[in-house]
Amino acid sequence: MAKLTKRQFLSVAGTTAAASLALRDGVAHAEPAGSWDLIVVGGGTAGIPAAIFAAQRGAKVLILEAAGALGGTLYLSSAQLSAAGTKLQEEKGIEDTPEEHFADIMKISKNTGNQDIIRLAVFNAAATFDWLMDSGLELLPDMPTIAYGHDPYSKPRYAWAPKMGIDVLNVMMGQLQPHIDSQQVEVMLQTRATALIQDESGSVTGVESVDADGVARQHIAQSVVLTSGGYSANDKLFEELEGNKRYCNCTYPMSQGHGLSLGVSAGGYIRGMEHHLPLFGAVLTSDDYPSGKLTTHRPWPPHNPPLGIFINTEGERFMAEDVPSHDAHEQALLGQTDERCWLVWDDEMLQNPEYALYFSRRFDREKLKEAFDNGTAFFDKADSLPELGQLAGFDGDKAVATLAEYNRGQSSGSDRFGRKHMPLPLAKAPFYAVRLQSWQLVTFAGIAVNDKLEVIRRDGQPVPGLYAAGEVIGAGATMGRSYCGGMQVTPAITFGRMLGQDIIPLKT
Ligand SMILES: Cc1cc2nc3c(=O)[nH]c(=O)nc-3n(C[C@H](O)[C@H](O)[C@H](O)COP(=O)(O)OP(=O)(O)OC[C@H]3O[C@@H](n4cnc5c(N)ncnc54)[C@H](O)[C@@H]3O)c2cc1C
Repeated sequence: MAKLTKRQFLSVAGTTAAASLALRDGVAHAEPAGSWDLIVVGGGTAGIPAAIFAAQRGAKVLILEAAGALGGTLYLSSAQLSAAGTKLQEEKGIEDTPEEHFADIMKISKNTGNQDIIRLAVFNAAATFDWLMDSGLELLPDMPTIAYGHDPYSKPRYAWAPKMGIDVLNVMMGQLQPHIDSQQVEVMLQTRATALIQDESGSVTGVESVDADGVARQHIAQSVVLTSGGYSANDKLFEELEGNKRYCNCTYPMSQGHGLSLGVSAGGYIRGMEHHLPLFGAVLTSDDYPSGKLTTHRPWPPHNPPLGIFINTEGERFMAEDVPSHDAHEQALLGQTDERCWLVWDDEMLQNPEYALYFSRRFDREKLKEAFDNGTAFFDKADSLPELGQLAGFDGDKAVATLAEYNRGQSSGSDRFGRKHMPLPLAKAPFYAVRLQSWQLVTFAGIAVNDKLEVIRRDGQPVPGLYAAGEVIGAGATMGRSYCGGMQVTPAITFGRMLGQDIIPLKT
């Protein structure tokens, strides 16, 4: 099988994204088109392992995939995995248990996640990780590690491959391809699921689909699994369920939330809206949302102590900028008007190479200076704070008092928010502001499932024949209102694997 690349994805996804906004708009009468043991709706991170493991049990599987290729978000994802009790940890002498992984997630998420779902994920993560490794996944040499992109775990249980999601996808495709070749698994590309078929008792008995030519079909199945991803590319649903604008366009275009609509249509319900949490600090390319992202400010104060201060739309500070927690930054931004703030520096901070400035994508001091000089969007500079506020969009008059208060705290060593790292006052004009906006790679609400991954009704009863895994169950299910490293990709693959391997009762 030829290896997949990110470039290939870019050529296929663009052709199908526009077609996937409304599920049944203009769909003609669907013709019967075969019957299956299992239909997988969405051949991505969770759907591929569901198909592999069901096929291994002898099931006839149909994968309906809206895009022009299998893979889903793995084309973009860093696919950083987290698993405790793996063979790799054992080889490296790292003692770790799923119980400790669970405790770390509870700590980071402040007990906001779904404990049953999180337990199911972490207690089965090592088997998933070991399967990927046994199937040929090659990781970077220093894995597993404790990484600091999110609040860190207490043990090295975080790991990723050089080409990240692409490597994971290629390994899983290596396992799927023989089942496609033997016709145990049929894949229908550029074919989106438009409706679930139910019998009189409410059991799900199949799926209707429409292909790129508008041909509508009915597929009959014993069981259906929704693995169609989240809704991070659907402006309307995002606003409805996340309660905020989709500011940044940085996710898989097919993440349109179809599985949520399908699940609800069959009697399920959506939960987890309260878990919405933005990532901190994107510098967007424009105010035309969803916009591109130029760079990101992701301070991790133990290693990257901040210099400037964060000012909100009202011209006020709202946190100790040196708090050593991404989560604290994310939760603080959540409470601010339009989920944005400005990082404000003075001239000494920008010019003096003794002090580091923390932006991603090689946005170093020279590039930052260039952005201020060129008037790049959201990089503003002015001789006074009222002027800067006017240019940038915050209350500059209020910011004058805010700055004076910060400088008093800086010189006395006693900051109102308890900030400790204050090497410099903000005193030397010109002043600079970079607008930092919330952004999201995942969506938090999803279709409700029980601990057998059955889609459930509000009364807790399962919708017979219908299962779900991956981001369609909501990132909040596995992370609560927080970001826990690896707790999207690993649970997606784990749940897909478990559904195919033994949860779904296949009658073959
Ligand atoms: C840039 C980025 C980096 C990330 N990094 C990490 C990370 O390091 N670690 C981590 O744990 N998580 C990470 N995540 C999140 C994680 O990658 C996703 O949550 C996960 O891959 C989603 O898997 P999924 O199977 O639910 O959806 P997907 O992998 O997106 O698969 C869904 C599939 O369903 C298809 N589909 C959609 N609608 C239909 C329909 N109606 N009919 C048929 N098919 C349909 C889609 O085309 C797609 O192929 C990242 C996300 C992004 C965007």
